[in-house]
Amino acid sequence: MSGVWVWIEHQDGAIAAIGRELIGAGRTVANSLGEPLTALLFGKDVAKAAGQAFDFGVDAVIAADDDTLDQVRVEAYGPLLAGLVRDREPRVIFAGATNRGRDLAAWTAAELDTGLIADGIAVTVDAKTVKVTRPVFAGKLLADVVIPGGLQLITLRSRAFAPAEPTGSSGEIEWIQPVLGEDELSTKVTALESTAGQVSLTDATVIVSGGRGVGGPEGFEPIKELAEAIGAAVGASRAAVDAGWIPYDYQVGQTGKTVSPDLYIACGISGAIQHQAGMRTAKVIVAINKDQNAPIYKLATYGIVGDLFDIVPALTAEFGRRMGE
Ligand SMILES: Cc1cc2nc3c(=O)[nH]c(=O)nc-3n(C[C@H](O)[C@H](O)[C@H](O)COP(=O)(O)OP(=O)(O)OC[C@H]3O[C@@H](n4cnc5c(N)ncnc54)[C@H](O)[C@@H]3O)c2cc1C
Repeated sequence: MSGVWVWIEHQDGAIAAIGRELIGAGRTVANSLGEPLTALLFGKDVAKAAGQAFDFGVDAVIAADDDTLDQVRVEAYGPLLAGLVRDREPRVIFAGATNRGRDLAAWTAAELDTGLIADGIAVTVDAKTVKVTRPVFAGKLLADVVIPGGLQLITLRSRAFAPAEPTGSSGEIEWIQPVLGEDELSTKVTALESTAGQVSLTDATVIVSGGRGVGGPEGFEPIKELAEAIGAAVGASRAAVDAGWIPYDYQVGQTGKTVSPDLYIACGISGAIQHQAGMRTAKVIVAINKDQNAPIYKLATYGIVGDLFDIVPALTAEFGRRMGE
């Protein structure tokens, strides 16, 4: 077994932020092991993104370009990855702890009957084994986990690793064929809804989130206005999602998205442990809550005690004024 692989997500011909972060983490691990770093790119029209992987510093690129790989479907991607692993026996594979990365890594681990470490936030190498630090008990504890022997299949959280920087390198892409044809795949993608223009929650550096305190769907308007003023993504607590005020895609927390922005502004959110599980690694947390005893204040870097319907519009106006200067 030898080599470190990173499975790279991409969109519109460019490597996604998590892809750059995986290459950054993979480079460190590959250097420590003294083994090459290989990027895997599957999809349709992937040549540009595959070339970009060399620029970010990988040693080799294996790519598959086919209609069947246009949308990420685990039943098409899984057999392709598992087949490659059987043939070439890499030591370590990293994927993003994203919806797609989790799906593919779990499928591949089950298919290959190997272990899987999910949600890594730090990696170190000890001899030939990668030690992964991951949050457990809703982020209350950090556990160091290893897969002793065999393939080490690991997913890494977004925004936990420094992204690889362009190096100016280029190289020759190795093209491989998909292993299943369209008629062998039972799931079809029939519609795609574009969220272009919206800031992705997991990649966002700033998030403004609303909870039950916003009081209804219309209560998200001031939250969205503040987010727009400062180029932030919008998030929500499960209480707001369960009430039907905002779609599930926006939910932050244990059963929603895990985010790690530079700034997280929690508006009308009490700070339940399940919500904290998804946002406690934010670098700066600002809580806006009218209850000064709300648990969110124990976690917050800054707290503003008061009514969000007074404070949030005031922040929007002030940010607008200062950013317009
Ligand atoms: C298995 C499981 C998984 C879960 N997963 C998640 C998850 O992924 N994400 C998640 O968020 N929750 C999750 N929960 C739910 C969690 O336990 C809480 O119920 C939820 O986070 C509460 O949401 P909230 O803070 O918006 O609502 P509340 O706890 O009701 O808090 C509302 C807050 O708003 C404040 N407020 C009210 N009006 C105003 C105002 N005008 N101005 C300022 N402040 C105001 C109140 O003082 C209060 O602190 C999960 C629960 C379970 C059991």
